[in-house]
Amino acid sequence: MRALVKSESKEGLWFQDVPEPRLGPDDAVIRVTKTGICGTDLHIWSWDRWAQSTVPVPLVIGHEYAGEIVAVGANVHDLHPGQRVSGEGHVAGMSSRASRAGRFHHDPDTKGIGVTLPGAFAELLSLPAFNVVPLPDAIDDEIGALLDPLGNAVHAALSFPLSGEDVLITGAGPIGIMAAAVARHVGARRIIITDIVDRRLELAARVADVQPVNVAKEDLRSVMARIGVDDGFAVGLEMSGAEAAFAQMTDVIAIGGGIAFLGIPPGPMTVDWTKIVFKSLTIKGIYGREMFDTWHKMLMMLQSGLSVRGVITHRLPAERYADGFAAMRTGEAGKVMMSWGPTRTHA
Ligand code: ZN
Repeated sequence: MRALVKSESKEGLWFQDVPEPRLGPDDAVIRVTKTGICGTDLHIWSWDRWAQSTVPVPLVIGHEYAGEIVAVGANVHDLHPGQRVSGEGHVAGMSSRASRAGRFHHDPDTKGIGVTLPGAFAELLSLPAFNVVPLPDAIDDEIGALLDPLGNAVHAALSFPLSGEDVLITGAGPIGIMAAAVARHVGARRIIITDIVDRRLELAARVADVQPVNVAKEDLRSVMARIGVDDGFAVGLEMSGAEAAFAQMTDVIAIGGGIAFLGIPPGPMTVDWTKIVFKSLTIKGIYGREMFDTWHKMLMMLQSGLSVRGVITHRLPAERYADGFAAMRTGEAGKVMMSWGPTRTHA
């Protein structure tokens, strides 16, 4: 089958023929139709220190996907060929204390498809049936391939009660924008999203009905005053990993506020802990999705008016992956979606 492979320990990714994945007794094999390119995939392309120390070579990469089941293993009775599905890309071990307590997303032995296990940038993907999530008819494959990053956004946004609250989101990448859409959907009052790239902020304002602020050009406090955020933000969603963004967030968040922290700083960063202590802030690290409560909630919200399709800015056949990665590298793209299968010649 055709797949996008990290086949050498150097910069780049290569479109290659590889053996089809094997079907274990507890697995489902999925014919992939749509995949999204993630920032993680960019790190694997550029082969930075993290990628070199994490990704075994050769490996089919990719972890944002949707498709159709074509085969199920002998032990799988609740899924069947023909079902449209997406799935959780974190494959948890089943023997840790966390897993046995039902907190699969806290399992220390977790492996990741497309990062440490064979991934989804391929015609076929083999996935443990436990990880498969069937898609309702109302959710098409393109949205299905967005569920991985949307799940990050939902996990972050629902960490603290948002209804009737003012919310600050730092970082207008696809996850920040989708988190803004979730905050709007669940009834937040004022939502400000900050970034330093105008194109990303314009996309955020289009998709999520939020107040964009380019903090390189505008003063956040004067925007807050203008739109009536008088008491500071009750909730902050940190999606940038930028030290300056987090410093500003701790500055403008209300006393007693909550911060969901998802952005990954490039290295150790300086934090003014006196603000966190004297403001009695609660900070929660966000990694992945809660299995499977986040999945349930996002599927329900997508069927009750949550709209995130606008975050997709590029649609390409998988063969044109290099163009998709180039668009990502500009820092101005939203989500880049690649198509697999018979319709692949149509962008
Ligand atoms: Zn991702």
